[in-house]
Amino acid sequence: MSWGKLLQPDLILGDSILNLTSEILQQHNIRGLVLDVDETLVPISMSETSPELQQWIQSLSPSIQVWLVSNNISQMRISRIAKSLNLPYILGARKPSRRKLRQAVDSMGLPFEQVAMVGDRLFTDVLAGNRLGMFTILVEPMVNPAKIQKRYLLRDIEVWFSQILGVSLIPWQQIQQNITDLDRS
Ligand SMILES: [Mg+2]
Repeated sequence: MSWGKLLQPDLILGDSILNLTSEILQQHNIRGLVLDVDETLVPISMSETSPELQQWIQSLSPSIQVWLVSNNISQMRISRIAKSLNLPYILGARKPSRRKLRQAVDSMGLPFEQVAMVGDRLFTDVLAGNRLGMFTILVEPMVNPAKIQKRYLLRDIEVWFSQILGVSLIPWQQIQQNITDLDRS
């Protein structure tokens, strides 16, 4: 498989993970979620989960199984976040390595294509998920409301480089709009 294909998310949310709805998951026949933690669920500058995030997790269960799989090696940070969301977790995953991701999916007892890997980064989250044949969802980083939004330099470089490799990063909302426009014309 080419690099472009391996880095291509199946869905580009164009928004934070809080906008990933049960309807979208149903549409794609997703029954399990593997979630990245840093910047996907919680800004790196924060250690607490927001009430909105807790509500979002609750809105998914019990029909959707959820695991946290983080590259972060801080047991204190990741276990605390996982506990506040009442979710199982794996840390030090070394994504794009497949090993820990496979472990999480195996625990769900679901086929890879029915589990979505959701993250903010192309070269770790999306690449790892695609290597396993999971459904991959790219989200916008979670922003700390108390801070002026900083640039995500590494992420921006990944986006730029992926587009050179042929990855298309048009948000799905825009694609839906284009389809609606086409139907009307
Ligand atoms: Mg991340």
